[in-house]
Amino acid sequence: MFLARVCPLCNRPGLVPCDACWTSLDPAPPGPVPALVAFSGEGARLLKGLKYGNGRAVIARLADGMSLLVEPCWADVVTWAPTSAVRKRTRGYDQAELLARAVARRLGVPCRSLLRRLPDSGPQTGRTRAERLNGPGFAGKRQAPPRVLLIDDVVTTGSTLRSAASVLRMMGAREVRPLAAASTPDAAWSRTRRVPVTSDFAR
Ligand SMILES: [Zn+2]
Repeated sequence: MFLARVCPLCNRPGLVPCDACWTSLDPAPPGPVPALVAFSGEGARLLKGLKYGNGRAVIARLADGMSLLVEPCWADVVTWAPTSAVRKRTRGYDQAELLARAVARRLGVPCRSLLRRLPDSGPQTGRTRAERLNGPGFAGKRQAPPRVLLIDDVVTTGSTLRSAASVLRMMGAREVRPLAAASTPDAAWSRTRRVPVTSDFAR
């Protein structure tokens, strides 16, 4: 597949995205899931391109930055919160998987498919906040090693990663650390303080 070496934000040829656009992105807001950029403005445009358009060339640069947010040598394995099989077929790829594979290569850690998304859980986009907080269903595919780095492209409420992490723990993981390319500021999260998510992930 040919990936045009053109910045998806300003159309300048070269790096994807170019240095000027890359450094202008807002960093991810503080939250329970470490992430690289804020899912707002140009950061959202970049991630939406990855999700819905031909923006796969941005994977390398995102993975470079994401791998620097991780304690080196910590993880036994890198995995991802998979999209549904139907969406992967429609889109031709799973963007969380591409990010996980690229991050794993940079960390020198194996990348394994450990989870399957249950077919009736549907995509997160377009669901109400209450629906999203319940989280999609996952099933474990195989035994998980003790320390798992769990990748997703965009984290909003964190429910997807919470569901995925709990299944990984049932499959044998002692500690699951989440990592996303982008996260969205979610005011309701800090207002309600419904779950101590950090400790939930750390368990
Ligand atoms: Zn640019």
